[in-house]
Amino acid sequence: MKSTTRVCVIGGGVVGCSVLYHLAKLGWSDVMLIERSELTSGSTWHAAGGFHTLNGDTNMAALQGYTIRLYKELEALTGMSCGLHHVGGITLADTPERLDMFRAERAKHRFMGLETELVTPEEIKKLAPVTNIDGILGGLYDPLDGHLDPSGTTHAYARAARMKGAEIVLRNPVIETNQRADGTWDVVTRDGTIHAEHVVNAAGLWAREVGALAGVYLPLHPMEHQYIVTEDLPEIFERDGEHPHVVDPGGESYLRQEGRGLCIGFYEQPCEPWAVDGTPLDFGHELLPDNLDKIEDSIAFAYRRYPILERAGVKNVIHGPFTFAPDGNPLVGPVRGVRNYWSACGVMAGFSQGGGVGLMLAQWMIEGETERDTIAMDVARFGDWITPGYTRPKVVENYQRRFSVTYPNEELPACRPFRTSPAYDIWDARNAVFGAQFGMEVVNYFALPGEARFETPSFRRSNAWEATRAEVQAVRNHVGINEVHNFGKYHVTGTGARGWLDRIMAGRVPQPGRMSLTPMLSPRGRLFGDFTISCMGEDDFRLTASYGAQDFHLRWFLQNLPTSGVAVENVSDTFIGFQIAGPNAPELLGRVVREDVSETAFRFMDVRRMVVGMSDCMVQRVSYTGGPGFEIFSDPGNQRALYSVLSEAGADLGLRPFGMRAMMSLRLDRFFGSWGREFSPDYTPGETGMDRFIAWNKAGDWIGKAAASAEKATGPARRLCVFEVDALDADVVAYEPIWLDGEVVGFCTSGGYSHHAGKSIAMGFVPTDRITDDLAVEIEILGDMIPARRITTPLIT
Ligand SMILES: Cc1cc2nc3c(=O)[nH]c(=O)nc-3n(C[C@H](O)[C@H](O)[C@H](O)COP(=O)(O)OP(=O)(O)OC[C@H]3O[C@@H](n4cnc5c(N)ncnc54)[C@H](O)[C@@H]3O)c2cc1C
Repeated sequence: MKSTTRVCVIGGGVVGCSVLYHLAKLGWSDVMLIERSELTSGSTWHAAGGFHTLNGDTNMAALQGYTIRLYKELEALTGMSCGLHHVGGITLADTPERLDMFRAERAKHRFMGLETELVTPEEIKKLAPVTNIDGILGGLYDPLDGHLDPSGTTHAYARAARMKGAEIVLRNPVIETNQRADGTWDVVTRDGTIHAEHVVNAAGLWAREVGALAGVYLPLHPMEHQYIVTEDLPEIFERDGEHPHVVDPGGESYLRQEGRGLCIGFYEQPCEPWAVDGTPLDFGHELLPDNLDKIEDSIAFAYRRYPILERAGVKNVIHGPFTFAPDGNPLVGPVRGVRNYWSACGVMAGFSQGGGVGLMLAQWMIEGETERDTIAMDVARFGDWITPGYTRPKVVENYQRRFSVTYPNEELPACRPFRTSPAYDIWDARNAVFGAQFGMEVVNYFALPGEARFETPSFRRSNAWEATRAEVQAVRNHVGINEVHNFGKYHVTGTGARGWLDRIMAGRVPQPGRMSLTPMLSPRGRLFGDFTISCMGEDDFRLTASYGAQDFHLRWFLQNLPTSGVAVENVSDTFIGFQIAGPNAPELLGRVVREDVSETAFRFMDVRRMVVGMSDCMVQRVSYTGGPGFEIFSDPGNQRALYSVLSEAGADLGLRPFGMRAMMSLRLDRFFGSWGREFSPDYTPGETGMDRFIAWNKAGDWIGKAAASAEKATGPARRLCVFEVDALDADVVAYEPIWLDGEVVGFCTSGGYSHHAGKSIAMGFVPTDRITDDLAVEIEILGDMIPARRITTPLIT
């Protein structure tokens, strides 16, 4: 065993081996993997080995496609078999909603290069004859679905990594990970200490324990899971070809051929978290005792869906644990605040996702950033607020919903409410329907009198429609109020603050009393953030950005912070308040402050410290709703008093609270993009129009300058356009394909309904050379081709 290495990967399951292979493949050959036992000794060895591309997140689905295509490459490289069975798979739809979901997924797959197809019940019967199609409305067929040999595949990754110079050490547990002052690590194993520049936690079932060695909490939890292998069945082994996979979401089961019989696994409702207080260190190549009682209802359902099972003998029951994050996606990337410590855990579908996880992590470590947006799997999508007490019920919820339809407007109930602002009770008393963002309760809308306080999950316009329209009208015609607690906020101070902001932000850093909008770029010129900078003094700045991107942004700040002269503090939850927006907003503000806040005295993008009622506040003239508006920030302790002052003063001005649904409709009127939709690391400033906020002439270098300048010189190959869509009852959500002259030329980033203009609006990318002022396209929404026309004039001035 060598004693120094560039990277020490802890854990030899499918994920650790994939990370090791990708590191070596991308050029870091001085890498090693430490496994406490044999390769596959965690959840990997007892996996059912199924793989599929379907994932609600588009980037995750693309990475699953990458993983599946990689297996042939591995086989060719190593000469080893992964035991591949590319038999194709069908996911059944037994409700119209699920069919809607498949139509939306199928549409997305068109520009992702995935060849899924919608199939009729009759086609399902032909493809998968063991299926009883009673009540089935259709299905989604994916030719890439299949299964493999988990052990063979893991060993193929391992051999491929070794062939590229990586070392693998077996039967040697890591017992400590200690960081040196220079950020490198001493990885203490039973057989000696390794000095490593980087550590990767790929310890799967033991990722919590290995994380704790470095003081890191990773929000994941193991769940028990069972599948059954049947005795031989003539209907199966006498077939010409292999039976395809069938996922039956209604029965929460997946079924496939296994040898001469079948294998069926369940995501049962009475599921059980495993090893709540920690994974036993001596757990290894053993299974959990069978528990058929737990899956009794699932089995009964499966007998109806696949009557053949009723006469099938049981050959094996496999019952083992594997880990989930609260939202079911992996936890990958650099752990904020712990230098050179990387997470590659929480991978619940190692054979669908392991390749993509390995590729993304290796790119991140070697090249500094990934080729695509990884936010869906980024460990930074959960903040410091997350605890084991939150993780466990969320993981149970996720397990139970493994095959549920996921709706774009859906809010999940587990662990709610958890984090709230002081104004929560005020909204609650006014019939608020809440959502959760980064753990925080946020008002989506206020249910109208007599309406249920629940938004029906739907791919189409929901029951929030009328309430949202009323809130939009209040903002456009009078004045609306909502909270600013769900903005990410940072206080940047120190003599070096301006210089640092000039380097980390591509835009102009404002003068005292003024604000600016700016993109933050990655070295490759991709969007890492869209920020508002407010300058309160030469060495005192406030930044605002997306609330959900807090850990992502903070991690980037810390990675780029000089050792002295600048301090960055996350004040997202300690600097909150309200925004007021609408034509009566200036009058309302004028009534509660002593300053002159007329448009000439307090201009657009001005920021001031003001006393509002009794509260010392930072007030800025800006609005995300378009039209007149102010953001008023203060201490959380003052929030309720601030609300009383504003609501009393605004009563005769038509003041009405509004929620996020209205906000997202209002922003469409001014074509404002939003983080995670129009703005993400997948896109560039030139593509999104954020280049208009770049300060090209500012002195000195800034992160992303070379790449952004190169894009400026050539012009982007695609650009964001806004469309008016002839939608009837379903608006664009995201990733719907944009068709032009019979081919898919682009995709939507977001959309919705402008209640102010009475129009369905979409934003999306189109190749630059296809863009004209009067561009007419079709947008595929839930399988229907909907005409849409480009618009260039905002819906309000
Ligand atoms: C019954 C069942 C069926 C499944 N079916 C499928 C399926 O069909 N398709 C699919 O994609 N996925 C399936 N899975 C999930 C799949 O098994 C996991 O996604 C995958 O195994 C995760 O791999 P991993 O490498 O992250 O973790 P693990 O396999 O748990 O590997 C972690 C490794 O780290 C090692 N380790 C831990 N601590 C230390 C230490 N201190 N020092 C050194 N080494 C250490 C362990 O020994 C272990 O080998 C199934 C899981 C179960 C339980």
